[in-house]
Amino acid sequence: MTDTTTAPQTTDLDAARLAFRDELVDAGLLVPAGEPGLFGRNGTFDDVVDAVDRYITLGFAALAPERIRFAPVIARSAFERTDYVASFPQLTGAIHTFTGSDRDHAALLAARAAGEDWDRFLHPGETMLVSAVCHPLYDHLAGQQVDGRVFDVVGYTFRHEPSDDPMRLQSFRMHEFVHVGGEDDARTFRNTWSERQAAMLAALGLDVTRVPANDPFFGRAGKFLAANQLTDELKIEVTVPIYPGLSDGTAIASANSAGDHFGAPFGITTADGTVAHTSCIAFGMERITLALFRTFGTSLADWPVSTLDQLSLR
Ligand code: ATP
Ligand code: ZN
Repeated sequence: MTDTTTAPQTTDLDAARLAFRDELVDAGLLVPAGEPGLFGRNGTFDDVVDAVDRYITLGFAALAPERIRFAPVIARSAFERTDYVASFPQLTGAIHTFTGSDRDHAALLAARAAGEDWDRFLHPGETMLVSAVCHPLYDHLAGQQVDGRVFDVVGYTFRHEPSDDPMRLQSFRMHEFVHVGGEDDARTFRNTWSERQAAMLAALGLDVTRVPANDPFFGRAGKFLAANQLTDELKIEVTVPIYPGLSDGTAIASANSAGDHFGAPFGITTADGTVAHTSCIAFGMERITLALFRTFGTSLADWPVSTLDQLSLR
């Protein structure tokens, strides 16, 4: 978590966030979709997302990663094994469905017609919304020997963090490169490619900083986990100033050492039978795109030629 704020500045920061959101909406880049942090996007916005995605793919081509894609929905059993709900219950999204009888349906319709809540007629199903695009991958690899393979995953995630800041969405795309293998290899991969990640984003003309960071662990116990994560430099973020003078930079990408946090519960091992370690290099697609619009303006015509060239947008 970056972009922490101090109390006296909160009002100015709130205003700056709303002003940025309005600017994006007025330019047609974001289309409000009824809840904070939920937007549609126009063609220009998505052209930039696609261009950034191609740029990232090319930049990591030397790894010859295995491309694999999953739905934004994950089996509850797999979600359970990620331990996500233990650390981030506040961000978790479950899927509830209707499995009742005709009588239950009639009761639902009656409640709905009376203007009452009808979702109490729905029940938790066997699926959850994906919180990080690497999670379905670990389930796919469960029980296997994986020693030094790199995967390329892209998809939508859901995180329940409604906000007026257009940088903080409830559903957004991540492009991740995930290394699964030995402990030393996983760490080397994270460090090497974390530097590459920052260098690539800097080459777009963004004012990037690479900083140790922590995840938004929930509650009092979470403070301890966050402190450990910082001390051990398990998470490194690439940040860009979006509201300079009002908040720290906002993370547009991160590089994470998960240790055996996923390898152990999913039973993934290396060739010698030890538990596999995993590392993720993650790009936040909407945030990178928004940082570009924030830095260079909402019209591509105003962007530096070098940035447009890097993205093959000219
Ligand atoms: P933050 O510190 O901003 O809360 P995070 O540490 O939870 O982010 P990661 O789990 O590292 O983020 O996710 C990888 C990337 O996904 C982030 O670097 C960021 O670019 C993007 N991202 C995370 N949360 C959001 C969000 N709510 N809206 C848009 N993009 C996000
Ligand atoms: Zn990941």
